[in-house]
This record gives sequence, structure tokens and C-alpha cells, in this order.
Amino acid sequence: MAVTSHASIKSRDGVSTLAGRWPLLGQRRPLVVYLCAIVALDVAAIVMFTASTDFHWRDALTFGALMGCGAVCIEATRRLGMPAGVSRDLLSAWWLPVALLLPPVYALFAPIVLQILLQVRVRATVLYRRVFSSAAIGLAGCTASVVFHLFVDDPWVLSQGSGPPILVAVAAAVLFSLLNITLIAIAAHTADPDMTWREVLWNRESVLLDIVELCLGVTVSIGCGLNLALLILALPPVVLLQRSLLHAQLQAAARTDAKTGLLNAAAWQREADTEIVRARRTGDTLALLIIDIDHFKRVNDAHGHLVGDQVLVGVASTLRSQLRDYDVVGRFGGEEFVVLLPGADIDEARRVAERLRNRIGHMAIPVDDTLIRITISAGVALMSVHGDDLIDLLTAADLALYRAKELGRDRICIPAVQLPPRPLPNDPTP
Ligand code: GH3
Ligand code: MG
Ligand code: MG
Repeated sequence: MAVTSHASIKSRDGVSTLAGRWPLLGQRRPLVVYLCAIVALDVAAIVMFTASTDFHWRDALTFGALMGCGAVCIEATRRLGMPAGVSRDLLSAWWLPVALLLPPVYALFAPIVLQILLQVRVRATVLYRRVFSSAAIGLAGCTASVVFHLFVDDPWVLSQGSGPPILVAVAAAVLFSLLNITLIAIAAHTADPDMTWREVLWNRESVLLDIVELCLGVTVSIGCGLNLALLILALPPVVLLQRSLLHAQLQAAARTDAKTGLLNAAAWQREADTEIVRARRTGDTLALLIIDIDHFKRVNDAHGHLVGDQVLVGVASTLRSQLRDYDVVGRFGGEEFVVLLPGADIDEARRVAERLRNRIGHMAIPVDDTLIRITISAGVALMSVHGDDLIDLLTAADLALYRAKELGRDRICIPAVQLPPRPLPNDPTP
């Protein structure tokens, strides 16, 4: 989920002013309803399970030890920071054992403890996100815990190493992951209905991480059942894994434009340069597009910056869905986007640009009772025809874009090619 800046919201009416103070109210209504419903369900589950659970010191001690490990993990990676938006960690290594070994009520409390720590010690993010994360993880963990305890009477038999309880633990861990992913994916899709379900649900890297978390969670549960002190041995490798995971995410975040999720200008230029060098070496064709939203200032003026941001996110997601995986697409700045089309000749580049213009022209972004429609203009430049390096291509495409604007916007332009002057029949110059 992209992080949205709420600081720039315009005070058009009371709701907008309130939304500035309470970012949740600035979200789409279906999203607000969904988030509130999940949090209410979590609170109801906490009340119900707290009332029906007997207190045992052994459970409290195990809970304390596992939360302590989570806290050490958070502290050990705190200085690295945390990427904006949805980020991944390995804290499941600690709350999965809570769900498997302890009564379900503990699974509801574990994410609350660790999310408070993350909020206070790592990054103070919009509060409703933290509350929703706690509720989603809590409900997923509680369900996994109920299912596990339904099949395994005494969870501490996990440490005896017999197959059936371990298999049930793995199944419960899979259920935990699936529920957690689904609850978060519904929120992401409700926040941005233009995102396909495949985009919000499926990501190879994150499936790999889910498997790692599952393995860690079940292994820590078995060790914990053997002897609580064994947690000391589990802690260093989990901390190390968590640090390298965060490092990779921060590296990716440094390449990404936080608002749209596309490459930022610097990362796009690096990738575009690499593609251009490759095309020059292989002799392949390559085209570059600069796309600019028409009269975008009017959208901001009429509906506020927050809506303007939604339009930017919508354009970015249309660009992504309409282009091939190996096309390089980035946000150049403001309401300008750049696309590199490796292997495209002038006809294909024009076709792609027209398709993008058409799709974006048909986008309708619902705001209050109206639908916002926008158009784009684009300039196209072709490698070897309009320039041989990135700077030349950008300059040529920018000039073409300028012409598209002059000619009335909502169109694609290609630079007039500067053909070398043809010698006259009696011209003595070579
Ligand atoms: P033209 O058709 O000539 O391109 O007109 P325009 O209004 O699109 O262009 P102009 O350069 O006059 O205005 C661009 C506007 O884009 C002004 C700026 O406030 C807005 N803008 C730039 N970055 C962002 C952003 O991140 N979010 C929002 N909401 N607006 C932005
Ligand atoms: Mg512009
Ligand atoms: Mg513009």
C-alpha cells in the first residue's frame, strides 16, 4: 500500500479538516467501514477469550519470554529504520509460538505488544494502520490457535517430535499466514480498487518470506516446548535474518517513489542508461516516452491535493498494468512519468503511447458524488533517430511533449526528424 501524505489536504469543508487531524476519516468510506469492522471483531474476541481463559503462570512466563525476544529483535534492527508503507518483518517467529503453545487469548495480545513497541521505538506511523495490523494479526493468530488446540489437546507435546502434532502445527501456521494475507489484501484492494487481486495477493518474494516465517515459527515452538531457555539460541539467527530483510527492503524503498510505487527519477535514469547501453551494443531499437497529465493543477485546485494524489496513483497503476514487465516506467517528478520501451520501433512506441492515452482518458476516479476524468499528453523519441543517449532522447521527447501541449493537449507527438541537408546537384560541398 502506498503511503499517502495527509499534510497537504485542503480544508474545503469540515470533513477535510477532520481528515487532516484523523487520517482514517480521509480514506474511502468502504475502507473505513472494513477497518472498523476488523478492529471491532478483534476487541470482541479479546473480551470473549479473556473471560473464558484460566490464568497459568507457565503461560504468562512463556508469553513474556517470546515478547522479550520480539522486543530484542525490534531493538536490534531499530537503527536501520523501517521502509514506508507495507513492510515485512520476521516477528511471526515469535507470535506463531504464542498461537501454538498458549491459549488463543495470548495470540490476540501478542501483536498489540509488539506494534506498540514498533510505534514507540521504530517509527510513529499513522495510528489506524498500527491498530489494524494488530487486529488482523491477532485475529489470524487466534483462529490458528483455536484450530491447533482443537486437534492437539496438549500443545507442549510438539517438543516430543512426533509427526502428527507437528503437521497440525504446520497447517495452523499456513492458516495463520493465509488469513493474515487475506485480511491485509482486502484492505489494500478496498483502498485502491484499481489494483488487481493478483497484485495485492501474489508476490513471489512475499510467499518465500511467508514460508521462512512458517518454518521459523514452528521450529521456535518446538524449541520453546523443550526448554524456554533455548530461545536464547534461536534469537541471534532470527535477528540476523530480520536485519538482512530490512536492509533489502530499505534498498528497494530508496529506488521507489513512495506515492506511486514506480521507480523514482534517479533509479529510472540508472535503469534507462543500462538499457540504452545494451540497445546500442546489440543494435536493438528502443523508444522513450515522457507523459504529462493535462491541467493537473486544476484537479488539485478543484478537489484538493489528496484527490490529486489519488489521480497520480491511478495513472501509475494504469501505466504498470498496460506495459510489459521489462518496460522501465518511473515517476519523473510532479505529474510527469517516463517510460522506456526496449525493442520498440516508432510504430510500436506510438501504438503503446496511444493505448496509454486511451486507457488513462477512460479512467474515472470517484470523488464525493462526481467522477474525475483526466487526459495526458506524451512525447515520443526513438533511439538512433532522435538521439543516441539518454539526455538527447529526453530532450527530444520533452520537445515533442511541449508541441503536444501547444497543439491542444490529449495527444501524442513525435519530434520532427532533423534530416541532414540533401546536396544540390551542382553543390560542390561533399
Ligand atoms: P499542463 O497541461 O500544461 O501540464 O498543466 P498542469 O496544470 O498539469 O501543469 P503545471 O505545471 O501548471 O502544474 C502541475 C501541478 O502538479 C502543480 C503541482 O501542484 C502539482 N503536483 C506536483 N506534484 C504533485 C503531487 O505529488 N501531488 C499532487 N496532488 N499534486 C502535485
Ligand atoms: Mg508537468
Ligand atoms: Mg501537466
